Amino acid sequence: MDKQQRDFYQRDQEEQASFLEQTWCNKCQEVDLGMTDPEEYELDGKVCIDGKCKKCGETVTTEIFGEDEEWEE
Ligand SMILES: [Zn+2]
Repeated sequence: MDKQQRDFYQRDQEEQASFLEQTWCNKCQEVDLGMTDPEEYELDGKVCIDGKCKKCGETVTTEIFGEDEEWEE
């Protein structure tokens, strides 16, 4: 299935902030290190945000659960 780009910056400021803080880094094996350069997309019906770990720079992916509303342009 194709990856569909979404606009992370259309989210509320608060939501953006919490997604940027609540991360899991596979490399550091630590939660909530934070990420930069968020990129939101939808793949196979799941919404994910890719970013870079603030500590090591590795790509971290956050999967967003419980979001069933349609994306409105
Ligand atoms: Zn890391």
